[in-house]
Amino acid sequence: MAFTVFSNFQNTINGKQSPTAEQRHGINPATGEPNPDVPVSTQEDVNNAVAAAQQAFTTWSDVHFEERKKAVLAFGEEVEKYAADFAKLLVQEQGKPLNFATLEVTMSIGGLRQTAELAGQIQDEVFEDTEDRKLVIRYTPIGAAVGIVPWNFPVSLCLQKLVPAVLTGNTVIIKPSPFTPYCGLKLVELAQGFFPPGVVQALSGDDSLGPWLTAHPGIEKISFTGSSFTGKKVMESAAKTLKRVTLELGGKDAAIICPNVDVEATAAKIAGMGFFNSGQICVAIKRVYVHESIYEKFLAAAVAFTKTIQVGPGTTEGVYMGPIQNAMQYEKVKGFFGDLTKEQISLSNGDSIPFDDKPGYFIKPTIIDRPAEDSRIATEEPFGPILPFMTWTDEADVIARANKTRMGLGASVWSDDLDQASRIGAKLQAGTVWINTHMEPDSRVPFGGHKESGIGTEGGIAGLKGWLNVQTLNIKKSSKGGLI
Ligand code: NAD
Repeated sequence: MAFTVFSNFQNTINGKQSPTAEQRHGINPATGEPNPDVPVSTQEDVNNAVAAAQQAFTTWSDVHFEERKKAVLAFGEEVEKYAADFAKLLVQEQGKPLNFATLEVTMSIGGLRQTAELAGQIQDEVFEDTEDRKLVIRYTPIGAAVGIVPWNFPVSLCLQKLVPAVLTGNTVIIKPSPFTPYCGLKLVELAQGFFPPGVVQALSGDDSLGPWLTAHPGIEKISFTGSSFTGKKVMESAAKTLKRVTLELGGKDAAIICPNVDVEATAAKIAGMGFFNSGQICVAIKRVYVHESIYEKFLAAAVAFTKTIQVGPGTTEGVYMGPIQNAMQYEKVKGFFGDLTKEQISLSNGDSIPFDDKPGYFIKPTIIDRPAEDSRIATEEPFGPILPFMTWTDEADVIARANKTRMGLGASVWSDDLDQASRIGAKLQAGTVWINTHMEPDSRVPFGGHKESGIGTEGGIAGLKGWLNVQTLNIKKSSKGGLI
């Protein structure tokens, strides 16, 4: 099938581009203008895609791993050829600056290659092999799966589901976010040149589509990335047929700053990481605890750095922060400012109302100086560019405060005393703990949330095993002999 241009967006069902009677469109968040039409899938589309995924599974699950790996690597090369087109489309649908959109595409291809290498390490494990019997632990593909993707990283999170799913012998239906369906649909269209019909499919639609997919009895596994609120609904729906679920959910990551850091350098990194992708990252820094002895200096350095951040359309060179991705999220983020004083808001952006009513959902990066410990900004995930700074003096106390949340995605400790940093880090309740950095992705290691930040992991061998059933093969070597 020839790859169509980047202006025509359809579902992919059983290897074919499949138009729908009804269409809808996303919005370019920098301009408020409509993006091109995309499908509105029906229950019938879901049934057709699931039937094709089940059919394809019967043969794809038997394809030798080396063949599957070859297909994935060839697909990666093809995506690379279109990297510039994907980056441009990503800016148009998601809003992020072009250089970061390019980074998302190239890092995703890097992750695809690393995952393909890693998957080869999963082999049958012989636990025991005696004269009498052999005990083998096997890992077998699960079946037809669904990958549900949010709007903050539409390329990387699509590939983070698609690639491990097919490497491990499953078939997968990708469901992009209704806010950012474009790159996901194109990635899956492109994949058709490398996988048999039904192995990789995509359905786009409105809010009915996710629940139809998670409820479908033909789906065996759901890999979901999104909010903790929706993740609970997905799990509830999956429980009815006991589907396997991996849930990558929200976060309220704490960064703990110890007194002996390089203040200027660390403050700039903290603000830069807090405001990257306009704060719309599950593992963005969302709370900063600075040791009281360096607080004023640290705050001043972070504020100075924040004032240099350029906000604007992702197509403008030099922009670090694009718009908030959609109107709903824009209103949600604006809601956080309602609880704050003018002084608190204007500290880092010079403006007591850091947004305006121009087209485009822009909000200036805002540091909040010592909000109340139980305020919304200190306890909830804004998923936008607002970062609360608080002080600490006692190590045990700051650990308890960092852990006092139902979230547990990431956390970091910043200190030139690595013993101190490791001691604090070991006590943090989070799926990933970083020392002197934060948010550094690495697809070779597991990534996932503790508590209400998720169930299971993606990335690494553990993530790949999430796409496999465990099977114990118990072989008695002879039929001779009695019962006991
Ligand atoms: P969301 O939960 O609103 O939507 C995520 C996806 O789920 C979308 O594709 C949406 O259409 C779909 N969906 C919505 N309702 C559904 C339902 N009932 N059943 C099945 N699917 C349904 O999340 P969002 O607003 O797109 O993304 C932001 C959230 O995602 C934040 O909380 C963020 O922290 C989290 N996130 C987590 C990770 C991670 O790896 N842990 C990564 C990125 C984002």
